[in-house]
Amino acid sequence: TRTPVNVTVTGAAGQIGYALLFRIASGQLLGADVPVRLRLLEIPQAVKAAEGTAMELDDCAFPLLSGVDIFDDATKAFEGANVALLVGARPRTKGMERGDLLEANGGIFKPQGEAINAGAADDIKVLVVGNPANTNALIARSHAPDVPAERFTAMTRLDHNRALAQLARKAGVSVADLRKLTIWGNHSATQYPDIFHAEIAGKNAAETVNDQAWLENDFIPTVAKRGAAIIEARGASSAASAASAAIDHVHTWVNGTAEGDWTSMAVVSDGSYGVPEGLISSFPVTTKDGAWEIVQGLEINEFSRGRIDASVAELAEERDAVRKLGLI
Ligand code: NDP
Repeated sequence: TRTPVNVTVTGAAGQIGYALLFRIASGQLLGADVPVRLRLLEIPQAVKAAEGTAMELDDCAFPLLSGVDIFDDATKAFEGANVALLVGARPRTKGMERGDLLEANGGIFKPQGEAINAGAADDIKVLVVGNPANTNALIARSHAPDVPAERFTAMTRLDHNRALAQLARKAGVSVADLRKLTIWGNHSATQYPDIFHAEIAGKNAAETVNDQAWLENDFIPTVAKRGAAIIEARGASSAASAASAAIDHVHTWVNGTAEGDWTSMAVVSDGSYGVPEGLISSFPVTTKDGAWEIVQGLEINEFSRGRIDASVAELAEERDAVRKLGLI
């Protein structure tokens, strides 16, 4: 029998956590033959709720779940972690300034980076879901100097999946017919979903759709503002789809992208496509044997260039702001 993989989840008692943990425990994160041990991190006042979720996990009798431990201390929670899903974050509340938001999250992601540095397993893979995800990942990463920078990633897979769904609907095809869609930049309203390299049943998506007005006035804003539209409709945020995307992100990272396709992940830039080195920005990425690579050599047209640059400029601003606050 295989040794269980340690999966640490922060914000475990939150909405996304509730949608996420059962899927991890059922084998959807890593594979149907990989046993997992969950290590849940919560703030002290949410530990009791996390214990309740752990009781339900027990009650599912998942054959692959070899244990659940709950912590309110980051150092302990990340001990031996092979995969870390950083979901808990400080949400922006009404009237909160951007600097306050970044500072509050610095207080969360700095100690978590230090804890990962101190105690995580050598093969640690980190996915940041809590917003502002790219910059929170940058903060954590900068406090984990002994962990290779490429192990810190942030989630744009939900944006990627949202874009796939919108494109499939427009083209009247199944999402299974789509390949090579890209989310560029920040997981924020400035993100750029790019269909110029995407394929619909093997043919170029932008040419097949041939509708620039739809692209600019419908597709891009619909994908970027989907979170708000779901809150409006459901009266609660998009927790299940966010959890599903987190599962997809890690599953793809560990198990690889399909031949002839890629995915979107926010990863540390090596300067590709003019994105300043060190920023954690979303790119088209292939994965193999647990490692990712940015897809190289794509031609970027003028429209895409402007959109990518705008989102990357926002990331650079966020980086400068957290640097000023002494968080990186
Ligand atoms: P959620 O579980 O709904 O969301 C958690 C984080 O994910 C938020 O930062 C949220 O950002 C982000 N997020 C990213 N994508 C999405 C999406 N599509 N839809 C919704 N959220 C998204 O928040 P809850 O408040 O229910 O739970 C948070 C939990 O985290 C609480 O239990 C709290 O105690 C815990 N926490 C734990 C910490 C720790 O372990 N050290 C630290 C801080 C909090 P956004 O706000 O922008 O929507």
